[in-house]
Amino acid sequence: MVGRLTLEQLAAAFEAGEIDTVLVAAPDMQGRLMGKRFHAAHFLDSGWKETHCCNYLLATDMEMYTVPGYRSTSWAAGYGDYTMKPDLATLRRVPWLPGTALVLCDLTDHHTHAEVPVAPRSILRRQVARAREMGFVPMVATELEFFVFDNAYEEFRDGGVNALRPVSGYNEDYHIFQTTKEEPLMRALRNGLYGAGIPVENSKGEAEAGQEEINIRYSDAMETADFHVITKNAAKEIAHSLGRSVTFMAKYDHRRAGSSSHVHQSLWTPEGKPAFLDRDAEHGMSLVMRQFLAGQLAHARAMTVFLAPYVNSYKRFCVGMFAPTKAVWSLDNRTAGFRVCGEGGKAVRVECRIGGADLNPYLACAALLAAGLDGIEKGMELEPEMRGDMYAAESAREIPATLRDAADLLEGSAMLRAAMGDAVVDHYVRAARWEIEEHDRVVTDWERLRGLERA
Ligand code: ADP
Repeated sequence: MVGRLTLEQLAAAFEAGEIDTVLVAAPDMQGRLMGKRFHAAHFLDSGWKETHCCNYLLATDMEMYTVPGYRSTSWAAGYGDYTMKPDLATLRRVPWLPGTALVLCDLTDHHTHAEVPVAPRSILRRQVARAREMGFVPMVATELEFFVFDNAYEEFRDGGVNALRPVSGYNEDYHIFQTTKEEPLMRALRNGLYGAGIPVENSKGEAEAGQEEINIRYSDAMETADFHVITKNAAKEIAHSLGRSVTFMAKYDHRRAGSSSHVHQSLWTPEGKPAFLDRDAEHGMSLVMRQFLAGQLAHARAMTVFLAPYVNSYKRFCVGMFAPTKAVWSLDNRTAGFRVCGEGGKAVRVECRIGGADLNPYLACAALLAAGLDGIEKGMELEPEMRGDMYAAESAREIPATLRDAADLLEGSAMLRAAMGDAVVDHYVRAARWEIEEHDRVVTDWERLRGLERA
């Protein structure tokens, strides 16, 4: 696809004066791009083989704080290096930045060159390999919703977060006119991603003032996760260039809807046949699909940390705003945590609606796959479809209401421990608990406003 580069094409583009900078980046625990900006000459000379980064990059929080309690690294271990190994299959142009290309990296041990088990790309690669061993190719799409503000990011530093101006004044779900006003950002984003070899399907206004959604064509799970992290970065970079900002917080304001990242999933055979389709079965759902969905329902509560990683993520799960509160399945019902889409056709798929736009796509896809594959391995039986208003269904399986509950459930998940390894589960339980500890410690604006005068 246009925008993808081989090393030879990069060399030619450098010779032609088209590209002078290569971003060499690895996704971190938060799904952010972390790395260095290489001069293209140096990248072509040696950087394409490997570079290094401090191993605290997989042990920090959003603030880059050196979080205690990780086994992978610590002050006691001296915070050594990881090797960043460029995955040259991800080398691409970055059309929205002048003269720039990007490559994503895998993180390996500086000494042994073994993959770092807690690295998001490694975690997903392991589940994809497992699916392939079972004869399946997992195909995934992650929709992304986000809010667009007239404010520049720099304003946030000076208390500007309290004066956010969403780019529109009304619910703009499917609106053409309002989204026309947002085209300086959204057209640049669609065309920029396309020019970077990311197959954008469309963007649309979403169901809240200032909210947009972007959809990218489904692809194999690793590529989709790569698309996801690049798309978020692109949206921020392009918004910044226009003096605007975007947020992928799950819930930036309790009075407004949250932002989701619905994950569409299907399994295919290596020959390209849809393993989820059986035209003779009910809804066209094959036995494999029913077992896969049964596995995801069985483990939905245990994997919620990977779909909702922050304290804030849980504020999105509220009644009446299209975000689900129940981990049940349904056909075409948007209040269920899992929805079957494309029934009866080759696009028949499971859409997990639990995740927020703040999820790390590598971790979310890995956890969803691990759960689905467990369902297939164990031949799990699918429970009956839920109908009607799930919000009111009292006996239905609840999505954990807090990160605290979700972390406990993850810690106790024998399935995720077996699938991902204890080192991975313990690492991300620690990440969740740290978020809770910080949230418990920090005094917020809300508390000050409520108590300063009246307490
Ligand atoms: P909706 O109208 O529910 O938003 P779309 O047709 O826009 O559905 O598709 C949503 C996402 O699902 C898109 O990103 C699309 O590429 C993806 N998708 C379509 N078919 C499949 C499939 N078989 N497996 C995984 N994802 C798929």
